[in-house]
Amino acid sequence: MAVLDQLTSQQAIDLENKYGAHNYHPLPVVLSRGEGVYVWDVEGKKYYDFLSAYSAVNQGHCHPKIVDAMTNQAQTLTLTSRAFYNDMLGKFEKFATETFNFDKLLPMNTGAEAVETALKLCRKWAYEVKGIHENEAQIIVCENNFHGRTTTIISFSNDPVARKNFGPYTDGFIKIEYDNLQALEDALNSNNNVAGFLVEPIQGEAGVYVPSEGYLAAAKALCEKHNVLFIADEVQTGIARTGRLLATCGNCSCADKHCSGTPEVKPDILILGKALSGGAYPVSAVLANDDIMNVIKPGNHGSTFGGNPVAAAIGMAALEVIKDEALAHNADELGKVFRTEMSKYIENSSIVNAVRGKGLLNAILINDSEESDTAWNICLRLRDNGLLAKPTHGNIIRFAPPLVMNKEQLLDCVSIIISTLQEFEA
Ligand SMILES: *Cc1c(COP(=O)(O)O)cnc(C)c1O
Repeated sequence: MAVLDQLTSQQAIDLENKYGAHNYHPLPVVLSRGEGVYVWDVEGKKYYDFLSAYSAVNQGHCHPKIVDAMTNQAQTLTLTSRAFYNDMLGKFEKFATETFNFDKLLPMNTGAEAVETALKLCRKWAYEVKGIHENEAQIIVCENNFHGRTTTIISFSNDPVARKNFGPYTDGFIKIEYDNLQALEDALNSNNNVAGFLVEPIQGEAGVYVPSEGYLAAAKALCEKHNVLFIADEVQTGIARTGRLLATCGNCSCADKHCSGTPEVKPDILILGKALSGGAYPVSAVLANDDIMNVIKPGNHGSTFGGNPVAAAIGMAALEVIKDEALAHNADELGKVFRTEMSKYIENSSIVNAVRGKGLLNAILINDSEESDTAWNICLRLRDNGLLAKPTHGNIIRFAPPLVMNKEQLLDCVSIIISTLQEFEA
């Protein structure tokens, strides 16, 4: 079959099953086009995208401004490697560091690479600035974390599916309970070699766990007291998803259009990915101030594609769209509408136990065991009814539409979700 032949859904699925590694279990729907909040399958059926590629497509599918930046740059210069300067990277670094209020940015491609970069940066800072003895640095992480798929990152995961038979694992991590300040304080008090605390402001993959009010600020204060770097993994929560430019912004006023990105909790190291490109291209980054970032010297770290001109052009356009279209504000407003409407339904529901989340990163808890296939079956019915979402863990469904959605579309989606859930009520 020729490359350009139009496949049916079943043909596309069969090809992936036969020729692709089985490292995912996709919902059976084959998409061939996207625009804004919508995607279309190969048979032409239209869906609301309620996953946004795990919050990479915050700016909506194929945003014209991002596509323009990408195609213009792709026709001009795509890759120089960092062996030479290029005329786009510095502009992107200036724009992004001003947006998020840091001195410097280190560009990478995927989220996992940016997390790896942050871990290396933290360790090097520990030895060269804090003065920890070589090879003794420890980094505190949280139970049920998700930070990516590399060998080091899965070394401190506690998901058996992600970990089993991939050992031996990387040392140097202490795992504590999420949203537990006492556990953090105990870990800091009982070990003099702690270099950093790596945390997701909301645990997305774990099932959209929002920590207690004040947890992040108090954790940051504990880190400061012990001269430990507070490392925020905002790969999923960042870039307007939770109703603020960053989830670490807490309740500051930066949901407004002129947000300066001044966070309530300012991380020492900020990790971004996913929506940093609006889903057009892999673009990730680590941001920090000079006292930390300057420990990295030529040859210490790098990536052939990291900071390439296409990525830089896309990254700038993607952040501009967030600001120009006030997407943090929209996520904040629509998130409230979504949770209010879902809460009303849940009062009299036997199939849904709760809704939780922040901005447009939300989840519902299905009243069944983690081993059951109820949530999966609900997602299949949602698909039939024109809305795409996927369970995270057996009994939690994450709802994260593109942030360019309007209120009318959101209410349409709420009614699709509710009428679908009604089919499953006892
Ligand atoms: C998705 C994600 C990552 C990993 O990003 P990849 O681009 O898939 O490597 C890391 N941290 C968090 C919080 C994520 O959601």
